[in-house]
Amino acid sequence: MTNSLVLVINSGSSSVKYQLVDAAGGEAVASGIVERIGEDDGIVTHHCGTETIEHRGPIRDHAEGLALAFGMFEQSGYPLSGAGVRSVGHRVVHGGEVFYKPTVITDEVVEQISRLSALAPLHNPANVTGIESARALLPDVPQVAVFDTAFFHGLPAAASTYAIDLDLAREHGIRRYGFHGTSHKYVSGQAAEFLGRDVAELNQIVLHLGNGASASAILRGTAIDTSMGLTPLEGLVMGTRSGDIDPGIVLHLRRSAGMSVDDIDDLLNRRSGLKGLSGVNDFRALGQLIDDGNTAAQLAYDVYIHRLRRYIGAYLIELGGADVITFTAGVGENSASVRADALRGLGRFGIAVDDARNTAKSRVARRISPDSAEVAVLVVPTNEELAIARAALAATASSSA
Ligand code: AMP
Repeated sequence: MTNSLVLVINSGSSSVKYQLVDAAGGEAVASGIVERIGEDDGIVTHHCGTETIEHRGPIRDHAEGLALAFGMFEQSGYPLSGAGVRSVGHRVVHGGEVFYKPTVITDEVVEQISRLSALAPLHNPANVTGIESARALLPDVPQVAVFDTAFFHGLPAAASTYAIDLDLAREHGIRRYGFHGTSHKYVSGQAAEFLGRDVAELNQIVLHLGNGASASAILRGTAIDTSMGLTPLEGLVMGTRSGDIDPGIVLHLRRSAGMSVDDIDDLLNRRSGLKGLSGVNDFRALGQLIDDGNTAAQLAYDVYIHRLRRYIGAYLIELGGADVITFTAGVGENSASVRADALRGLGRFGIAVDDARNTAKSRVARRISPDSAEVAVLVVPTNEELAIARAALAATASSSA
């Protein structure tokens, strides 16, 4: 039996995704998702090998959902208790100023993550619930928190500081933290490996374009800027989030449209972005609407690309030129048109996309720029679960060394 198995848990407000990963080989041994927690029509979907099993019924809370999932490991002939799980790795969204590396979980760590909930009210409380449930179910297995903000912890002050009253900002922890850090770090590492280079030799722009989306500028292995800020709302246009807006819009909505803070929160996080502009947040549905001649969908696409190009331009300047630009996540890995439009007409900056390479179907890391182009443009599949598993295993090993 392998001794590098890590259970990775990503706990959201009403769902928990989990994956049992062999951190050495990189394979997912089993995975699943618990959905509609707190409702009568809850569902657990569990995949193990080629088999998929399902449980439907009320799921009271996260603890019950995870217990059901653990039962399904047993049902599929792979009980977790006998699997020799070395560590449980938890994705935690906000590490604030406190956490900047994978951290073995203790009662005190849980309390600190809880305290950071003011900065991530949609995410950290759910992460804590997942941690508490997993600790109760697997009390003898070390648990590790891996923070989405960690890779950006060392952003230069010029990039992390908002131009507002400094004392007020300090008092309330208001600064740019950045998110998706696990993915940006993993993908930049994979990009360097693909090119046979060391991350310390390369200036990289990573474009993580999923339902949530973010860009980062990485100078010889160190992140120097990223598009998300105090919260994951800042930056690129996303599936349902607005990304950058004039903060005056919030004031205007509050004063003139009579919207409450919660209304505005809901508007900007769940009813904006592609969805707000076109009615759909999925890029495949957006593409279909554009093909059907829907002008709102076309506008949504154009706004998305415009914002993306603005960040690419900014990061090219911040880095003093890039060696690599990498697309990743659902949209970045799958949409050839987004990749082509994001980098169109940039030949004078050494950036080009080869049409045949860009449109070829592939699931592995690949170059989509011509070999002759100065800047390597890559598509690299992200794998946050594997990155979390490796980080958790390393933290467990160093804490017991
Ligand atoms: P993620 O958050 O990384 O899971 O990405 C999810 C998003 O990827 C979905 O909302 C889709 O918009 C997009 N996506 C997934 N598959 C495709 C595809 N084949 N073509 C275009 N977009 C896709």
